[in-house]
Amino acid sequence: MIYFDQVSKQYRDGTPALENVTLSVSPKEFVSIVGHSGAGKTTLLKMLLAEEKPSAGNVFFEEIDIHGLPKNALHHYRRKIGTVFQDFRLIPTKTAYENIAFAMEAVGRRDDEIASDVPYILDLVDIGDKAHHFPHQLSGGEQQRVAIGRAIINQPDVIVADEPTGNLDPVNTYDVIEILKKINELGTTVIITTHNKGVVDAMNKRVITMDKGKVVRDDMHGHYIL
Ligand code: ADP
Repeated sequence: MIYFDQVSKQYRDGTPALENVTLSVSPKEFVSIVGHSGAGKTTLLKMLLAEEKPSAGNVFFEEIDIHGLPKNALHHYRRKIGTVFQDFRLIPTKTAYENIAFAMEAVGRRDDEIASDVPYILDLVDIGDKAHHFPHQLSGGEQQRVAIGRAIINQPDVIVADEPTGNLDPVNTYDVIEILKKINELGTTVIITTHNKGVVDAMNKRVITMDKGKVVRDDMHGHYIL
């Protein structure tokens, strides 16, 4: 479903961030991307989100060369991917419920769909009892669960999470990973970057290790080896 074909990236200032990366991700996979800071993990995700263009090579999503898409089609493409970030990025003036509902409003979903889907998703990410709390009234782990709810509410094919547990303590890390695993088991492809050895080892799923812009390991049932 996702295919990186000999992708290289140099930023405008000349920094090489990816070098000849070829990899594919199948539907419903759970993939962890690990590597030291500066290894190119975030750049790889930005290529997939079409936020940055490759300097060479192509990125395909279901046989579509995403960097060749016109702007309006790109907008449609991005809806296939839900995003989660280390710093949650919730709207501070909206409650958990409203943050998730807003993602549905933004794509023009009807009020009755919103009223039925949001409570379901709040329960899925296990935050139903705090639906009407604002982000500042939630722990980091709870905020990240809301952010995951927002990422999945429009039923994307893929969730991309850049260091989703980077700001969390071990208990909250465990909860967030369990939710990402559950979402994956329900059929969504999940791609995360992480520095957390415990997370990767507990997962026993595919691990791609990057170093200096290159894929240096790709293990189907990997461990964190750096
Ligand atoms: P990681 O996510 O593994 O820490 P990144 O993809 O963020 O790695 O960075 C890879 C390399 O590209 C690093 O050398 C980083 O400094 C550089 N880089 C990242 N973003 C930019 C940018 N916008 N402009 C210039 N260099 C960048």
